[in-house]
Amino acid sequence: MHSPAPLLPLAAPPALNLFGLDHAGMQAFLLSHNEKPFRATQLLKWIHQQGVTDFHLMTNISKNLRQHLSEVASLTPPQEITRQISHDGTRKWLLQVDQGNAIETVLIPEIDRNTLCISSQVGCALDCRFCSTARQGFNRNLSAAEIIAQLWLAEHSVRLEQGTQAQGGASRVISNVVLMGMGEPLLNFDNVLTALRLMLDDNAYGLSRRRVTLSTAGVVPALDKLRELCPVSLAVSLHAPDDALRDELVPLNKKYPLKDLIEACQRYIGDDQRRRITIEYVLLKGVNDSTQQARALVKLLRKLPAKVNLIPFNPFPLSGFEPSPLRTIDAFREILMQAGIMTVTRKTRGDDIDAACGQLAGKVQDRSRRERRFSEVSV
Ligand code: SAH
Repeated sequence: MHSPAPLLPLAAPPALNLFGLDHAGMQAFLLSHNEKPFRATQLLKWIHQQGVTDFHLMTNISKNLRQHLSEVASLTPPQEITRQISHDGTRKWLLQVDQGNAIETVLIPEIDRNTLCISSQVGCALDCRFCSTARQGFNRNLSAAEIIAQLWLAEHSVRLEQGTQAQGGASRVISNVVLMGMGEPLLNFDNVLTALRLMLDDNAYGLSRRRVTLSTAGVVPALDKLRELCPVSLAVSLHAPDDALRDELVPLNKKYPLKDLIEACQRYIGDDQRRRITIEYVLLKGVNDSTQQARALVKLLRKLPAKVNLIPFNPFPLSGFEPSPLRTIDAFREILMQAGIMTVTRKTRGDDIDAACGQLAGKVQDRSRRERRFSEVSV
């Protein structure tokens, strides 16, 4: 008879990254360690408002708990690989999330606001034809910790630069957040929801629902869930006024066609007269930018309280698309405006550092092997 193999000593369980816990999660964590749940508020304030990651510096928490936290938990933000600043003040962070993958986060300063554009996935599975993130393929969802830590990192590193770190909430740098970076946020629902709750929590970032915008290509069932659980502002990437063209540009349309998507948007708004859905429409020369298509878009949006963001296409190598000329964009906009639809042409920001819409590529170890497929097609 063989004697049993000697048991290896058990490795310590990996420390739980507390960045990923919203208020309810933090309470549950504390309870499971026989601690009082009201400490959740203190911890959230230390982490998200004060930017403190060393448990030993959390002075209103008992020494015992501080010691215990430092043994069982961690506060680990993604590692900053590079930080670039554009001539227009736009900043882009490249953040390492694991050995093979990096994501991008962009801060866009404006006169009356500072908007942070954050990523929700490493790469993207949706395969929209005109998006460079799509080319990179898809690797994985970001954890709640990795999503919220983008806001944490941008907020506190800019505060440090400005020397306003100690002032807490009063000196808040980031006033708006858009989930318009890499990935489809509604395909990473639970983690995005936790991060959204932290953005809105007064003990963390205290942003109003109006100032947090989730951008989606239109995952209809998840839209209904979001409306129920955390109805932040919504932007929908439409890009085509009819199903035939949208099937081509945004393949997700084959699953959730325009009629279903528009109805989901109507449900999202409900009877709140003040709310509007932002419709995003990237203008591609000769593809979706004709006056006829503008009129079709007017017709489609007739029953939806919407404002339209026209996005000049940001080209990238081998995209196969060209940006629409300025006069075409203006003519398209004019038709929408004449029909009473509030329409703005989005300014391209940070394009000298590849931080503009659709240029975020990060570094993705593609599990969907999409890069190979594209290179086979394009040569
Ligand atoms: N998956 C989400 C969020 C990421 S994309 C969504 O589809 O909404 C954020 C916005 O940038 C979308 O409207 C997207 O269509 C747009 N975009 C993608 N590639 C672009 C490009 N090359 N030029 C301009 N806008 C682009």
